[in-house]
Parts: sequence; C-alpha cells; structure tokens
Amino acid sequence: MFQEINAPRRVVVVGAGMVGLSTAWFLQERGVEVTVLDRKGIAAGASWGNAGWLTPGISTPLPEPAVLRYGLRAALSATSPVYVPPTGNVRLIKFLASFARHSTTKRWRAAMESLVAINRCALSSFDSLVDGGVRGQTEEAESFLAAYRTTEERAVLLEELEHIQAAGQQIAFDVLSGDDAREVEPSLSDEVGAAIRLRGQRFINPGDFVHRLADAVRQRGGTIREDAEVTSVEDDGRTLQVGIGDGSTESFDAIVLATGTWLGDLARQFGVKTVVQAGRGYSFSVAMEHVPSGPVYFPSQRVACTPLLGRLRVAGMMEFRKPEAALDQRRIGAIVDAARPLLRGADLDSRTDEWVGSRPCTPDGLPLIGATRSPRVFVAGGHGMWGITLGPATGRLLAESIVTGHLPTELVPFDPLR
Ligand SMILES: Cc1cc2nc3c(=O)[nH]c(=O)nc-3n(C[C@H](O)[C@H](O)[C@H](O)COP(=O)(O)OP(=O)(O)OC[C@H]3O[C@@H](n4cnc5c(N)ncnc54)[C@H](O)[C@@H]3O)c2cc1C
Repeated sequence: MFQEINAPRRVVVVGAGMVGLSTAWFLQERGVEVTVLDRKGIAAGASWGNAGWLTPGISTPLPEPAVLRYGLRAALSATSPVYVPPTGNVRLIKFLASFARHSTTKRWRAAMESLVAINRCALSSFDSLVDGGVRGQTEEAESFLAAYRTTEERAVLLEELEHIQAAGQQIAFDVLSGDDAREVEPSLSDEVGAAIRLRGQRFINPGDFVHRLADAVRQRGGTIREDAEVTSVEDDGRTLQVGIGDGSTESFDAIVLATGTWLGDLARQFGVKTVVQAGRGYSFSVAMEHVPSGPVYFPSQRVACTPLLGRLRVAGMMEFRKPEAALDQRRIGAIVDAARPLLRGADLDSRTDEWVGSRPCTPDGLPLIGATRSPRVFVAGGHGMWGITLGPATGRLLAESIVTGHLPTELVPFDPLR
C-alpha cells in the first residue's frame, strides 16, 4: 500500500455515478488531482432514477431467508416484484447460487454487523459534501412511512427492525394504526391498515444531487469527461495505462473503478472475483392530489415512493437481467398495479420519466471497496440497494485509504478480493 509520502497525485475515477463522483470529491479534499471518465455521462447509470432514500437505519444486506423464500415463489412471473428470467447465463446462475447460500439468518446477521460502521457515517458524509460547497440538498424525512394492509404483514418489518437493532444499528420508529398513518399522510388509501414511521432518515433528488456533485468536482479543478469509455487498464509496475474508447491512452498514478453494475468488466483482471449482478429496478413520476411530505414505502409490494419536484417518484422491481436490456413495460405495469390500491389521489395513468436502472448487487449483500491485487487499482461499488445512501461514506473512507495507505476499520469487511 502507499505511504502518505508516496500517495498518488493523479487519479482517474471511472464512473460518474454517486460512488465515483463522491470518491473524486473526497480525493480532492486530500489534494489529489482527479479525472473522472464516464462512457455515457453524469448519473447515466443507477444514480439517476432511484428512490433517493438516505436511510442508513434500514441499509441491510439483501440476501436473507425471507427474500429467498419470496424470490423463489415470485421469481418466474413477469408481474411479480422479483423477476429472474429462465436463463443459461453462467454468471447469473453462479450469482443466484451464491446468493442462495448467503440467504441464511447467520450470514445475514454477520453481513448486517459489517454494515453498521459504514452506515454510521452515511449522513455525516453527505453533510461534509454540502458543508464543503456541494450545492445539493438533503431533506429530513419528517414522515417516513412503511405502510401495510394488515398488522400481520407489518410484523415482518418489525421483526427485521429488531434484528437490525440487535446487530448494533440505531433506528428509531413508531408503530401506527392505519388511521394514524393517514393522519400523517393523507395520500394513503383506506386499504392501509397498519404502518411504521421511521425516524432520523433523509432523502434527496438523486440525479440533481449527483449533477451538483459533478459541478463541485469541476469547480475544484477536476476534469470530467463524458462519452469516454475505459476499454483497458494496464499496470506496468509503476504507473497505469488507461485505454479510452477513442483509441487514446493516458497514464495515471492510480485508478478507482466505480462502474456500478459493470464493475467486474475491468476489475476481474485485478483479482476481483465476486460477481456483480444487475438487479434492475424501475421508476416513474406521477402527479398527486396531496404530495407526501416524506418517503412512503409499501414493503409487501416492494414499492418505494419519494416526493420529488412537486410530484411522486414511484420505484420498484428487482429484475435479474442484463443491464443493457430494454425497459420492459410489463414491469412498470406491475408497479402501477401494486401501488394503485394503496395510494389515494395518485394519477398513475399519466406517468413521466419512466426509467430502468441497475442496482449493482453482490451475492453476499456487501459492497466491494478498497485495493485490488494491484496497489494502484481500487474498486468502489456493489452497494446493491444502498449506493446512494452509502456513496459519500464510501468515497470518504476510500479516499482516506488511497492517500494515507491505512485501511479504515469501516472498510475491512468490504475487501474486494474476498
Ligand atoms: C429502482 C431503484 C431504486 C433505488 N433506490 C435507492 C435508494 O432509495 N437509496 C439508495 O441508497 N440506493 C438506491 N438504489 C441503488 C442505487 O441507485 C445504486 O446502488 C447506486 O446508484 C450505484 O451507484 P454507482 O455510482 O455505484 O453506479 P452507477 O450510478 O450505475 O454509475 C456507474 C457509472 O459507470 C459508468 N461506466 C460503466 N462502465 C464504464 C466504462 N468501462 N468506462 C466508463 N464509464 C463506465 C456508467 O456509464 C455509469 O454512469 C436504487 C436503485 C434502483 C434501481
């Protein structure tokens, strides 16, 4: 690893999503000259149309017994919230087999304990960005409601919250009746019979925030190049030669691969064996008679709603397919059908901003953050459902590690070579 005196001066970050741009910004804090390359543009991947929740209190590993049971039942139906196409794709089969192996109570608990330390610095890392001049806003979620038809359905999250707290994660919440929930949030329909209000969480407009982060990186002297696909990375033992799609090659002291669901493409040759699988999700925006003041979550339907720009963004689905596959209108239909009975005054038939994006999912539910077999090649990604919440904390801790040569304890469980 680098000692401070040998800290890299010129670093290239590949991927202009929440994770890559946060890493670039925190590297700049430590005096590093950064170049960010993206084959498309800023927030062109999963960092645009997601739900924008900053919810360290429920940032939990995806593989767990309930998800596995649910996924197996629902997997093959095009309208269910989890979709796995019949496949001969070897990498997907490998991912699913490993995901199933990790979906035990014991492994979930160990993975949850690994997330607690990084979750703890999630919100303060956003504050560092904003206090340091990023002109984005985070909103306190005064009413963050998880809503259910019945108390039996609610029991699943109440039990999970107990496990989350037992792992050391702080999360405060209130248990509400359907009427209490409607008083807080009149856009819930009469079908909602039980709810939980989460405390202390926040939300953002993710696309807007990531663009403002990019503005700040540029203002501080960083270079961001769009339409710049990285096609090769070669370590000659002293510097890195980075091949770009236009045929040019540039040399840097170190590289951070923050390429979301495509992480494996460039990282595999440096010993990163964990499969990063696209867990595709969909979203769209609708007008509301009464726009909720905070996020609304329908856990049984796996639908996440966030107030953005005077409308409601409605997001959902977990579709294990290739990230490049076209938007499948049936999935949008499935989210609409799931949300319609539970929302009041939502104009679900005139949608704008229909979007599909890929959560970068790992089979053990933990991100990959840190050095690879090359001391000049770092990876930051694989956050699955929580890359917005954990992007800035990841960038802060990884920048510290790259510049000082010391691995922060928060990052120990996320060794990319595991
Ligand atoms: C429906 C949905 C809802 C979600 N809701 C939330 C939420 O509420 N809260 C939360 O915390 N998370 C949420 N997530 C997850 C979150 O969106 C992701 O974890 C996060 O955006 C990942 O960020 P990233 O920077 O790692 O990847 P991305 O944003 O995907 O960025 C990767 C970038 O790398 C670029 N790239 C790839 N390969 C190359 C290459 N070879 N050369 C150059 N550039 C390359 C891509 O163009 C892309 O711009 C949600 C996801 C979905 C789909």
